[in-house]
Amino acid sequence: IERTFSIVKPNAVAKNLIGAIYSRFEAAGLKIVAAKMLHLTREQAEGFYAEHAERPFFGGLVDFMTSGPIILQVLEGKDAVRRHREIMGATNPENALAGTLRADYADSLTENAVHGSDSAESAAREIAYFFSEGEIC
Ligand code: ATP
Ligand code: MG
Repeated sequence: IERTFSIVKPNAVAKNLIGAIYSRFEAAGLKIVAAKMLHLTREQAEGFYAEHAERPFFGGLVDFMTSGPIILQVLEGKDAVRRHREIMGATNPENALAGTLRADYADSLTENAVHGSDSAESAAREIAYFFSEGEIC
């Protein structure tokens, strides 16, 4: 059993896709064990994406991630990190396989609907960035 960290990004929340995206997680056997809605401050978004601080898209990414409310969740299941990334599809929706969340719901490379941790180590760090152990069921 593994945990991963997941975000429904502002474009997907704005388009009323929270339920559709949660349905995909649950249908895949990924259990939602913590969840909250937040409107990120710039400081929170910059800290979360600190690894990308020197990338040319960083400012635009922070603008987007602070543009409206997001839903954060911890997902639990067998092989959760890899299976969640499989359900999301490729970062660039043009490369995302049919039937993945990004193929269906992304608006662009930046506004790509969802985030998912890329390793167990990232998952632990990202979960701890937003949730205390007591908020995870
Ligand atoms: P995420 O971390 O959101 O799950 P990812 O791991 O597939 O996605 P990263 O390389 O970590 O992709 O990039 C983080 C986010 O930054 C992407 O999801 C996307 O929103 C944005 N992004 C990544 N690369 C670019 C780019 N070249 N141009 C614009 N935005 C980008
Ligand atoms: Mg990433």
